[in-house]
Amino acid sequence: MADNCIFCKIVRGEIPAAKLYEDEELLAFRDISPAAPLHFLVIPKKHISGPAAVTAEDERLIGRMLRIGSETAKKEGIEDFRVVFNNGAQAGQTVFHIHMHILGGRDLNWPPG
Ligand code: 5GP
Ligand code: ZN
Repeated sequence: MADNCIFCKIVRGEIPAAKLYEDEELLAFRDISPAAPLHFLVIPKKHISGPAAVTAEDERLIGRMLRIGSETAKKEGIEDFRVVFNNGAQAGQTVFHIHMHILGGRDLNWPPG
């Protein structure tokens, strides 16, 4: 847990979030600034600063993010979606607690900007 991390604050319930899924180790909630009709984030409750900070002991946890994210999208009625992890400021990472974006519900262009 990092004291000043906004996503750790959401995990601790100090900042509200529109939660879609929660268990002992993962949380999924709607992005506050959605870029698609369905846009939510899946985070581990454990503070990991980003994709490049994932260690071997996190591998099962990171895999679960993909399964839970897919199942949550399906519950929201979306089967076609994009999965994004940003790593580092130049790639667009603004919150340094690892998060998986799931975006869907509209046509998505490739490559992204
Ligand atoms: P990044 O740019 O780091 O990949 O993505 C961070 C995402 O977190 C952004 O899409 C941003 O809209 C979202 N976000 C930032 N602060 C909050 C917040 O307090 N609540 C929620 N629900 N989303 C947030
Ligand atoms: Zn954190």
